Amino acid sequence: MNILLLGSGGREHTLAWKLKQSKRLEKLFVAPGNAGTEGVATNLPIDPNDFVAVKAAAIEHKIDMVVVGPEDPLVRGIADYFRQNPDLDHIPVIGPEKKAAALEGSKDFAKQFMMRHGIPTAAYRSFTAETLQEGFNFLGTLNPPYVLKADGLAAGKGVVILDNLDEARAELSRMLLDSKFGEASTTVVIEEFLSGIELSCFVLTDGDHFKILPTAKDYKRIGEGDTGLNTGGMGAISPVPFADGPFMEKVKERIILPTVIGLKKDQLPYKGFIFIGLIKVGEDPYVIEYNVRLGDPETEVVLPRIQNDLVEVFEAVAKGELDRIHLEIDRRCAVTVMAVSGGYPGSYAKGKEIIGLEDVRDSVVFHAGTRNEKGTLVTKGGRVLAVTSYGEDFRKALKDSYRNMEKIRFDGMYYRKDLGFDL
Ligand code: ATP
Repeated sequence: MNILLLGSGGREHTLAWKLKQSKRLEKLFVAPGNAGTEGVATNLPIDPNDFVAVKAAAIEHKIDMVVVGPEDPLVRGIADYFRQNPDLDHIPVIGPEKKAAALEGSKDFAKQFMMRHGIPTAAYRSFTAETLQEGFNFLGTLNPPYVLKADGLAAGKGVVILDNLDEARAELSRMLLDSKFGEASTTVVIEEFLSGIELSCFVLTDGDHFKILPTAKDYKRIGEGDTGLNTGGMGAISPVPFADGPFMEKVKERIILPTVIGLKKDQLPYKGFIFIGLIKVGEDPYVIEYNVRLGDPETEVVLPRIQNDLVEVFEAVAKGELDRIHLEIDRRCAVTVMAVSGGYPGSYAKGKEIIGLEDVRDSVVFHAGTRNEKGTLVTKGGRVLAVTSYGEDFRKALKDSYRNMEKIRFDGMYYRKDLGFDL
């Protein structure tokens, strides 16, 4: 089977690496990919949001399945585009249709979904410019800190948490009246602050059946000890030590089952990954957010622990036969450490030569923002590459990643040396 994978990050290199191991795979294309995917697939210079170009590539390369990495094409309706197009409707897309992708595309929609299906989440209300005054009043009824969320996609920046009531009210005005996050903040969700420890849970569903994938915890802040600005993710660990059997049973009963049943009840077509951002408050799980795709860098630790043939798993998803798959999970831990460009998540230089990858042993390097420039590997993004290792426990695995990280060099390279410090 020929597969077209959309995206260009570490998540997509990991997906490509895993798909490449399949007996069922003939040709793999990645659009647009990076220097890492080039080693296992054919990169196509196509923007995943340019559906017409994706269609042309799917026809030209006789694609049998499309796997969507990032959320943007899903929220814009790429799965619907394939289903509704007579030239493409025989090609299954791994990723939900637009209506269902609103679980990530609109926080208000996600909150309403959770309320409707009794899924534990922070209490909330949504406001628009017309109801600004009610928003001010609602903030007055809450205890600090105040959590304000732009409804739409805001590249991970649309959540503002403030300790001071006046600042929270001013922020609400900026979001609603001054379009601080553009269209994304036409509606703002204000919710109760939950205090606990976060983790990510991944589910794969065919719309009827589901499989729970390994849990992961990512490290979002740039600085050690979880300080400084938020990033796309500086590393991840799987499994999450505090997500033990009884806790995951609660996650399954209270969150995963009602989510999958709710999608079906609400007629939200879903064949793909559900990423559930959880917070453990005391011993109880609450949903912070849904994403409609895999996370990055969580993918770099979740997929390496899955031992099944991923193409077979995706074929079962496409056919609605996920119940016949038994997931085999590697009992070892996996960790990934992300190397980023100096200055990230602020401004940073690109085009810096990357050396030392050939000296890496006992770890897998997944490329994120990399580019092959006439045979030289150079940086192309803030997050540059992720070094994944296995171990009997996450500390042993981290040792391998850190040992290998020391062999890799590029100008301005930075990585956190304290992953797992809180566990
Ligand atoms: P991202 O895409 O970066 O994961 P996002 O912009 O989609 O984030 P959320 O995941 O909803 O937004 O929130 C971002 C972060 O804000 C969460 O990971 C969590 O740390 C914090 N947060 C969000 N909601 C709450 C809440 N109700 N209580 C406490 N912290 C919260």
